[in-house]
Amino acid sequence: MIEAGKPQANPSKMSSLSPKAIIHQKYGDKAFYQVEEVQVTPQNECPGLVITQKAPPCLYRCTLHLPETTVVSDTFKKKKEAEQSAAEKAIEKLGLRQKEYNPTKQEAWDDLAGRVAFLFANEFLSFPNPLSNHFRAALRRDGHFNGFVPVSVIAVYDAKTTSICKFINPAAEMNSLLVMSLVSRAAAKLSDLVIVSDDQLSVQRRNLYSPEIISSINHEASLLESIPLDVILIPVSCEKAVEPLKLNISATGYYLDVIAHALSLPGASDIIISRTIGKASSEMRIYSSTPKRLFENLSEPQTKQASHVEGSLNIRATYFAGQEIHGDAILASIGYTWKSPDLSHEAISLCSYYRNFVSKIPSGPYKVSRDAMLAAQLPLAFTTKSNWRGSFPRDILSAFCRYHHLSEPVFSTQSSMLDSSVNLPGSRKKLKATELSKKEKSELGIAAAPTGAISCNIKIYSKNQELLLECSPQESYRKQTDAVQSVALKVLRWLDIYFEKPDLSAEELGLLAKKFDIQFTQNFFKGFSLCHSVHRSGTTITQASDTTLNNVEGLNSGVTPANGCLACISYTVSLLGEGDGTKEYIESCEEFEFEVGNQAVLPHLEAAVEKMAVGQSAYFTVELPLSELILAASGDSAKTLSLLSPRSCKLEYCVTLLQVTEPLEDRMEQALFSPPLSKQRVEFAVCQIRQSSAVSLVDFGCGSGSLLDSLLSYPTSLEKIAGVDLSHRGLAKAAKLVHSKLNSLLDPNEPTSEMKSAALYYGNITEFDPQLHGFDIATCLEVIEHMEEEEACLFGNVVLSLFAPKILIVSTPNYEYNVILQGCTPRGQEDDPDEKNQGQATKFRNHDHKFEWTRAQFQHWASELAVKHNYSVEFSGVGGAADEEPGFASQIAIFRRGEESVSSMECGSEYVQIWKWSREDQPVGVS
Ligand code: SAH
Ligand code: MG
Repeated sequence: MIEAGKPQANPSKMSSLSPKAIIHQKYGDKAFYQVEEVQVTPQNECPGLVITQKAPPCLYRCTLHLPETTVVSDTFKKKKEAEQSAAEKAIEKLGLRQKEYNPTKQEAWDDLAGRVAFLFANEFLSFPNPLSNHFRAALRRDGHFNGFVPVSVIAVYDAKTTSICKFINPAAEMNSLLVMSLVSRAAAKLSDLVIVSDDQLSVQRRNLYSPEIISSINHEASLLESIPLDVILIPVSCEKAVEPLKLNISATGYYLDVIAHALSLPGASDIIISRTIGKASSEMRIYSSTPKRLFENLSEPQTKQASHVEGSLNIRATYFAGQEIHGDAILASIGYTWKSPDLSHEAISLCSYYRNFVSKIPSGPYKVSRDAMLAAQLPLAFTTKSNWRGSFPRDILSAFCRYHHLSEPVFSTQSSMLDSSVNLPGSRKKLKATELSKKEKSELGIAAAPTGAISCNIKIYSKNQELLLECSPQESYRKQTDAVQSVALKVLRWLDIYFEKPDLSAEELGLLAKKFDIQFTQNFFKGFSLCHSVHRSGTTITQASDTTLNNVEGLNSGVTPANGCLACISYTVSLLGEGDGTKEYIESCEEFEFEVGNQAVLPHLEAAVEKMAVGQSAYFTVELPLSELILAASGDSAKTLSLLSPRSCKLEYCVTLLQVTEPLEDRMEQALFSPPLSKQRVEFAVCQIRQSSAVSLVDFGCGSGSLLDSLLSYPTSLEKIAGVDLSHRGLAKAAKLVHSKLNSLLDPNEPTSEMKSAALYYGNITEFDPQLHGFDIATCLEVIEHMEEEEACLFGNVVLSLFAPKILIVSTPNYEYNVILQGCTPRGQEDDPDEKNQGQATKFRNHDHKFEWTRAQFQHWASELAVKHNYSVEFSGVGGAADEEPGFASQIAIFRRGEESVSSMECGSEYVQIWKWSREDQPVGVS
């Protein structure tokens, strides 16, 4: 019952958390759920009747192991239900829900002593949990140490102890040394129960355990096998290289004694154990010597600081563990877990050490996920899920936070519905309900285009919940995944710059942060204080300025990658000793796919691939990157290291372009329409040209000249053609294509063309150039959707009022047709399966599209323009049909200039002519 007027104790928390979540909050991965199938024997419902068709339903029962108790659920049809029920039972049993644990300092001291007493009781040894394994192993320790349990083990493996210590001193949560000292002080008060060693680093039970326990432990020991374990030694001196070490974990002894020995320490008790490093499931930890002076100081509650031990700080290990490590340290993956009663262990090679090291760089987890340390880079943008390769930005950011011992990043998405009554998809650009009035919207032709615009914001906190940084971009997206991934990528890219440029001043960093919509706090620098002293060697390559492509081999197939394509390459990277010509393979891949134009690979590599055609190979060399990257890639780190040290080296890349995959839009258009949609657009234009007997044509947004080139394959009345675009790359291709086509038409045997001149211009089609005034026909195919909607309107106005062609043909995708296109895309290329076919907004056909219009939107745009500039307009399209839902795949508007229309010939800017051809200039005799 809730009493009136009395505030309820955190009601939201109590109602919203599932039992499992409550258990997780308290125990984290110390809670272990074991689900078993329970076969139901049919209770003789109908004696004599044999049930053959149906096996009895399978039921599940869950056992939940917690450090202090084990509970078993009832049986359920679903595994999940069984787990929740077990959690619920545990909550009841432990009284977790009734009262929050909130003791006074004195109560906490009592509880701590009680906890220590509990751990050293007979029964504790029989609980199957990681800590009791240590207690049993301690009973197998040699001679003098026999039975002594290191306090470090209690501090690290008993969550309950730490949570009690927090109430004695809040700093204990982050400081296991402090927990250790509190535990040994609590133990000292239990003198009739336990003995604390002289150095206070270990505790032993005063009375012997029962003989049965001792004999069962001796029996266990006789079954154990020796374990050879690969570990890594991280010397305290940064001058010394990190090296691999082999430990022999003896059959009968205690593994912590073996590690201590390797560190030249007397025994297990002198070791301090770090928290786990890397992956959530990892048992990888750093073992080092307990800084005794610091420890002693801690046991005097008055003295707080102990800076005099700083001299022996192991920077690399400290950086790795995210907590202070002193002296030489060992990185090992070994320990008792909840999953098995045996000691679990894993070899750590130098290569995996360096991969973990690289994973601390923001782009590191991406490189690791692509298994390409020396080729992959964090891409510039999250274009589409289907073009993304490797781990997703959100996961990388989570991994990054984990590696730096920060809290999980907090994503929050907001969706601003502009007009909830109409739920039509619209543009991806910034549309804020407050910014545009209805009237303004209708002027922009987007009256019917309200849309759920989703934006995302990310906050990163330290483990203590101090805010380190926040990223809140303006951009909004139609889909939550896009919003989340794009912002995560933004944060990662900024962090990457911070990690790469240690000498960036706080001011410069701040300016940069602004560009990335990031705000950071002073705590940010605290969180990453060590990264620059650790990641300092080596240069980072950010620009492919002076790469010379040594040679491109192989025939030019003509198939070259354009932005947005997926390029598939094979490559090898070798370490090249300068002078002596030694060569060592470091990294290679038979098939490596990446999106061109998105900086998804090393700049040199991208620049090289852009110059290549399918089938060609090339090689080039670059200066050495961060040596850790090379070592993380190399299979034989020791050999690589020896090559790296004495002489100067370079990296040599050999790359072959295997295949180029067109962007999804082109693939769809080719796969689903026959002839392909692009060809149908050309044929449509040719038909208009024929009917109008046009002599001159200008193609606005000609791209790589596909329309101009194809037009020339048909007999038409055209004598003069021109193309305009803003893409140099497109124009260069167009020039090449059109040039060879025109010259081939000069062949007297093929008198198909009256063509007199052709030209290509670099220019923005929303600006007027008088040179192109008054052409018979203007085309603008699949271009407007690449501009912002305002620009599309501006273009319409400029063309009809200034360029004033007799006919203007504009095509753009029909958004409503996307359901069909995207429903037919081969499986696996598309986004989340749960978003398919649910009346959900489909995505745009191409990541470069700024909008895609419905028929209503397009017709609204075109009709307004026509009226305003005295043109008539009619609508048509290609792909699909006018009278069948959802209309044409590509919708087309044909504008015709009215008789009495007068166009004003204003002056304008002149486009830059990139290429021109005229019949007169061609060698005589050919024509
Ligand atoms: N019309 C071509 C290309 C379509 S792709 C075809 O149908 O194949 C769109 C093209 O529009 C790109 O080449 C892009 O560079 C160009 N473009 C986009 N905005 C432009 C602008 N404001 N001025 C000139 N070209 C533009
Ligand atoms: Mg397009």
